[in-house]
Amino acid sequence: MKTKDITRYVKPYEVRSGKGFRLRDFDPADTAGLGAESKPKAQELLQKGVERLEQLQGKLYAQDSHALLLVFQAMDAAGKDGTIKHVMSGVNPEGCQVYSFKAPSQEDLEHDYLWRTTRCMPERGRIGIFNRSYYEEVLVVRVHPELLEAEKLPRKLLGKHIWKQRYEDIRNFENYATNNGTVIRKFFLHLSKEEQRKRFLERLDTPEKNWKFSSADVKERGYWDNYQEAYEEMIQHTATKSAPWYVIPADNKWFARLVVAGAVVHALDELKLHYPVVDEAKKKELKQAEAALRGEKKK
Ligand code: ATP
Ligand code: MG
Repeated sequence: MKTKDITRYVKPYEVRSGKGFRLRDFDPADTAGLGAESKPKAQELLQKGVERLEQLQGKLYAQDSHALLLVFQAMDAAGKDGTIKHVMSGVNPEGCQVYSFKAPSQEDLEHDYLWRTTRCMPERGRIGIFNRSYYEEVLVVRVHPELLEAEKLPRKLLGKHIWKQRYEDIRNFENYATNNGTVIRKFFLHLSKEEQRKRFLERLDTPEKNWKFSSADVKERGYWDNYQEAYEEMIQHTATKSAPWYVIPADNKWFARLVVAGAVVHALDELKLHYPVVDEAKKKELKQAEAALRGEKKK
């Protein structure tokens, strides 16, 4: 497979500058013209992408220099878990770590909001996945201001500029990480309200999926428009050239997975990774080891 076969689906959904960004310009049901009949082909391509990812990750690990951070944000039932599972399915588990961020603990609340996620940033050579992230601080916390009240910040810092301030802090944090070798790619799985309704109903209708259903999710759905606004503004302020957002059409899972895989392959490909070159001294060492092994008497 040529890398291009999969990365070609990525560009239309990449947001490298938030200027003029409007969520309504992105259709959650978009499949780049591929019809349902293309689904098996897309799955085959995804499989190839996963294999390519596996090779690239091997080099990332061997080089032990760059790290890759993948951030996933979405409304409930948009398919974060499934996407992570499918896209990363071929990757050596040793080189990859997934962290899910739920409501902050008491200990988390004793610190600034970047504390808990910063501790989980990927080591060099690794791929780190954030299933939800510090972006919740400008999403759920923005939609429910009482959560901000609970964050124990000094009162005088709770001005109306707090959201602009947080966007700026996040941009600075991501710049800092980038300048230190961590490549950041951010994915918003963009689901339509109707598709979410269908998926919730499916969870109710299918006994094996009942466990996934949560009444709290339906309550959050009541704030749909507030969330969409918060997502739009978040992307406007935090999409940058070095840490772009990908607005992934998420109504069709097979397509969402294809685009995410393409974006991850693209990010690693751009690093022009290679296995460390063996220098003359090392070559000599290898030769000696080989000679010693060959010279060993068979027992
Ligand atoms: P799933 O439902 O598939 O298990 P999930 O990511 O939705 O995955 P939940 O336990 O259902 O996990 O939800 C986690 C909740 O924690 C979300 O509602 C999210 O908004 C909330 N959350 C995450 N980070 C924060 C934060 N910093 N402040 C407040 N709430 C947060
Ligand atoms: Mg949930």
